[in-house]
Amino acid sequence: MQSVDLVIERGTLVSPETSYVASIAIDNGKIVAIGQQANMPRSDRVVDARGKMVLPGAIDAHVHVGQPWEGTKRPVYYAEDIESATMAAAMAGTTTICDMPDSMPLVTSAKVFKRKIEFWSKRAYVDFGLHGGFVPNTDFEELIPPLWKAGATALKTFMCFSEDIWPAMLDGELYDALQVIHRVNGFAILHAENDHMLTQNKKKLDRDHRVDFKSHLEWRPPIVEYEADRRAIFLLREAKTRGLIVHTSVPEGVREVQVARANGQEVYVETCQHYLYLTDKDVERRGPWVKCSPPLRDKSRVLEIRHQLANGEIYSIGSDHSPFKKEDVKKSEGNMWSAEAGMPELETGMPLMLNGVNEGWISLHRVVACTSENPARIYGLYPRKGTIGLGSDADVIIVDMKRRWKVKDSELKMKSGWSPYNGKLLRGIPTLTLVRGVVVMEDREITGDQGHGKFQSRSRESSQQIEN
Ligand SMILES: [Zn+2]
Repeated sequence: MQSVDLVIERGTLVSPETSYVASIAIDNGKIVAIGQQANMPRSDRVVDARGKMVLPGAIDAHVHVGQPWEGTKRPVYYAEDIESATMAAAMAGTTTICDMPDSMPLVTSAKVFKRKIEFWSKRAYVDFGLHGGFVPNTDFEELIPPLWKAGATALKTFMCFSEDIWPAMLDGELYDALQVIHRVNGFAILHAENDHMLTQNKKKLDRDHRVDFKSHLEWRPPIVEYEADRRAIFLLREAKTRGLIVHTSVPEGVREVQVARANGQEVYVETCQHYLYLTDKDVERRGPWVKCSPPLRDKSRVLEIRHQLANGEIYSIGSDHSPFKKEDVKKSEGNMWSAEAGMPELETGMPLMLNGVNEGWISLHRVVACTSENPARIYGLYPRKGTIGLGSDADVIIVDMKRRWKVKDSELKMKSGWSPYNGKLLRGIPTLTLVRGVVVMEDREITGDQGHGKFQSRSRESSQQIEN
């Protein structure tokens, strides 16, 4: 073999199943050799990874960058832009992010989808996929097939009203849309909360003039979520559509997914770092700084979600990065209803999971499965992404499991400039991030360029179903 671009020497390669010491050679953005150091080709650059872990780059498939484009407005702007979000991703060891379709304008047609690819392409440091969406009162037959064909990684909707911009998709229309998705062999992702229960609970809270943050928990109790989980699973099954329930916070919903899978249904469930680290007590104490929907749950549910994730009953971890400006969050401290739901989390995503390994509640193998291989399979990016294999994209991270990192608001790349984990000391941190063979982060500094990140279309190959 001729000389290659880069060799990563003698790191411990970790996959969902195994780990072993090996070197990898990278050329033209691809992995071209894996094996003993003595068998590696000559290389322009060698990185010594002895004593470090070498993992496939993380895929954060639940991100709301939300940079407004084409002059359209949303009620409250997200604080992030593509530049800051993808730099934060590179810092976290995340080599691909998938952006949600509730950016403005909403990405519910192939036309808008294609313009969004163009807008992102000049700006991203890491690779990106884009989820499309579907909303009520639209022509599903006309909109969904072209959107899917354009390369959307998934098709999203909300079963409840969301933030003034996305009306609830109720059962009749949802079932119709899912049948269209089935016909194109598409993949649905659903925000599952019961819209009518939310309306009913809000009436009671309004009657009592409640504006405190505990009322957020009473507005959206666990049953609101797991009732919708059951219905989502049922409608997906009847429409014969593959799908995933996003950001679950309730073990009850995970159990429903397990029953459905045992009956042969291809349905998945995702959770987020905040449901693994924060609880309802934080909501009472910290108000808008930890407001998200579904809300944070009691300690016993948090521990059970950790357990289900560690056991393989939850398939994917997305950060649900939803960055709002510090001053806007501050302003809403006195009134729960005025606070936006969501927290900036892209930059702490993978570090929190590595910290979980050091805390002993999850294995590094499971972290690799849930942050990389599974999302790559679920969103049709595997084996181009999600694995360190011959011919795969060289999306690789080197992790120092011993190194500590204190989360500090002032040092974050996220433009929102704050984190719900400010002050927390984490152990285990990426020290090098490669996106298609290019070093975009090294020793906690950004070294990549804007525009390196490329759109990742969902592959048209057959299902990459995860067996369990
Ligand atoms: Zn979300």
